[in-house]
Amino acid sequence: EGSSFEIMTAACSSAGRLELKQQRPAQNNRLIMARIVQKFGGTSVADLDRIRAVAQRVKAEVDAGNQVAVVVSAMSGTTNQLVEWATDIGPVHDAREYDVIVATGEQVTVGLLAIALQNIGVDARSWLGWQIALQTDDIHSSARIKGIDVAQIEDRLMQGQVAIVAGFQGISPEGRVTTLGRGGSDTSAVALAAALNADRCDIYTDVDGVYTTDPRIMPKARKLDQITFEEMLEMASAGAKVLQTRSVAMAMRHKVHLQVLSSFSDEPGTLVIDEDDVMEEQKISGIAYSRDEAKVTLVSLPDQPGIAATVFGTLAEYHINVDMIVQSASADKQNTDITFSLGALDLDKAVDCLEAIKNKLGYQALVADPDMAKVSVIGTAMRSQPGIARTMFSVLAEKGINLHVISTSEIKISVLIDSDYTELAVRSLHDVFGLETA
Ligand code: ASP
Ligand code: MG
Repeated sequence: EGSSFEIMTAACSSAGRLELKQQRPAQNNRLIMARIVQKFGGTSVADLDRIRAVAQRVKAEVDAGNQVAVVVSAMSGTTNQLVEWATDIGPVHDAREYDVIVATGEQVTVGLLAIALQNIGVDARSWLGWQIALQTDDIHSSARIKGIDVAQIEDRLMQGQVAIVAGFQGISPEGRVTTLGRGGSDTSAVALAAALNADRCDIYTDVDGVYTTDPRIMPKARKLDQITFEEMLEMASAGAKVLQTRSVAMAMRHKVHLQVLSSFSDEPGTLVIDEDDVMEEQKISGIAYSRDEAKVTLVSLPDQPGIAATVFGTLAEYHINVDMIVQSASADKQNTDITFSLGALDLDKAVDCLEAIKNKLGYQALVADPDMAKVSVIGTAMRSQPGIARTMFSVLAEKGINLHVISTSEIKISVLIDSDYTELAVRSLHDVFGLETA
């Protein structure tokens, strides 16, 4: 995770949050309350009525005296359709053209929202990634943001104009359109908020916040009022889909005040905050899961230096992301087994490339299992409370759930299990940690 993101306007980079108000006390004879980035996801802009409703939400912030920049996704379903076309036309040899296609969904929604705003008397202008310019590297289809030149947009905000920025897209050093990976408009919004030194970044979605777990499989799931950046990061990377993982990492680095809330209700959302600002005691915050996991075991590898480096070096060369890894202790100092988990979509590729170097590695057998799920317990309580792993493993054992791989971080314990047991594991863990009551 490089922190190469730089803020390119001199005017903004050192201005504190309060300084903004002091610098520019009036805009169209009104007091500027705050500078806000609002982000609306695909379901929030799914049709014209919803776009009109979004325009009203934007207008409300403008009427309150705020400077507003808006980031939008494509209408829900659009990007899936575009990806399908891009991959069905024939093998994609050139990801630059893939990006040209899949980036178009957001061009439609920025234009529509600009018109909707203009029609209710709000001065608004749309901006595509290349126009602002949101600069990325050249890793097409999963590009990383390098910097944003917000000078122009800042100017417009100062004049009281709403800037509507297409999420998900940027421009490569070559000057070609890039995209940031699925769900990337969250990251666009956070990057823009950081570059504009915004007071808040409000992520509007179709759920009214971050839940203790997925309410679709656990109706007793509870909305969290707040969650720390670290917990949110672990939740996102462990499979909770509410925010793109990279957006959380970026918000944490740049201390962006992030809020997740629903565009369909006026309920308060979930604040994502610094651990230092948390008033409550350390606790278990949530149970996350991801079903699309697979497992590979290399049986009986020679127990020698360099073997693991060759296995994982080869996978890395093929851009295969590995998640959990265990190596069994070798009883006889001759052979060990290595087991790792990875995304199910990468399984075939991983098996191919490990079979290709079977002789070099000298393993006896390769066992692959495509039907795995990862279930994780997340919370800052792990820093201070002993016994959380015991509670977790005991309840899973009582339910007869076998653990294939275990991994931990300071605030997370994850287990790899057969995917058939996902719901049972999530519900039992939610119960045993008492998450339905705050
Ligand atoms: N429209 C893009 C996607 O579906 C980006 C986003 O919605 O965040 O992945
Ligand atoms: Mg999203």
